[in-house]
Amino acid sequence: MKKVFGLLGSPVGHSMSPVMHKTAYKRMNLEATYEAFDVAPDQLENAVKGIRALGISGCNVTIPHKVEVMKYLDEIDEEARQIGAVNTIVNVDGYLKGFNTDGRGYIQSLLTVAQNLLDQSILVIGAGGAARAVIAALAAHQPHKIVIANRTEEKAQTLADMFSDTKTSVQASTISKVEEQLEDFSIIINTTSVGMSPHVSDQPISLENLAAGSIVSDLIYNPLETTLLKEAKEKKAHTLNGVGMFVQQGALSIEHWTGHYPDVLPMQEVVLDQLNKSK
Ligand code: NAP
Repeated sequence: MKKVFGLLGSPVGHSMSPVMHKTAYKRMNLEATYEAFDVAPDQLENAVKGIRALGISGCNVTIPHKVEVMKYLDEIDEEARQIGAVNTIVNVDGYLKGFNTDGRGYIQSLLTVAQNLLDQSILVIGAGGAARAVIAALAAHQPHKIVIANRTEEKAQTLADMFSDTKTSVQASTISKVEEQLEDFSIIINTTSVGMSPHVSDQPISLENLAAGSIVSDLIYNPLETTLLKEAKEKKAHTLNGVGMFVQQGALSIEHWTGHYPDVLPMQEVVLDQLNKSK
């Protein structure tokens, strides 16, 4: 019987997940479909009950439901619990388990440009949900240090405090301080929405003191090259946009649902195609 997977979020009209997942299923010869469901916040509990009632095999969860959905699930995986959010639900005979693939998806993407993470001094700009997933996954790789800087400084401190018992030093700083000390960092990651379309000329941080040869990574994929990445490239840094993370988190969801890790190349091609069409 054809399997049904889906996305719970709002809005979901412009989501690239359906086309990306359907491309993967076709390549895997998996008889399955993937539909985006626009779920209002007051309907989330019913939507989760619907997963069981309709026998939907698995769902992704996106803004604004990633945190709220946790209370309606039967079990939360340890990594998702640490991140404090779920982006993947697996349905086994009506028993719903929540996972989070964002952090590991990001690491897999980062490792396409970074040799290893052990010796790296990493700056994370932003302290929202994406930052939390990325920092949890980075900390598991025990880099030299992680510094968090955010517009709302208290949020950076709260996030750093959550990682106080990890082996890696995770500290909070301010945007102005890290701008001055930018050459100390070998990897700089923008996890804020600053620079995302339509505000494409905005930049979360000045790169004046960037060291050549460092890695500058932006979780944003629309535009494919943010102003931050453009300037980083001009300063001879290696750059990474958010497409890889998006594709890898989807591939890891498919692995949870089917036990098989899909070929990510056709997934990436179709996402790039969609993004180029929407330019
Ligand atoms: P979020 O929880 O709402 O966090 C937003 C972050 O951006 C906060 O740190 C916030 O700072 C900061 N921010 C927002 N507007 C700002 C502004 N005008 N100036 C300075 N800082 C600002 O959102 P999220 O879920 O973490 O997502 C953040 C970004 O990551 C989005 O662009 C999203 O598309 C992207 N993302 C990409 C992927 C992928 O697969 N590539 C996956 C997840 C997320 P304050 O705390 O001061 O408000």
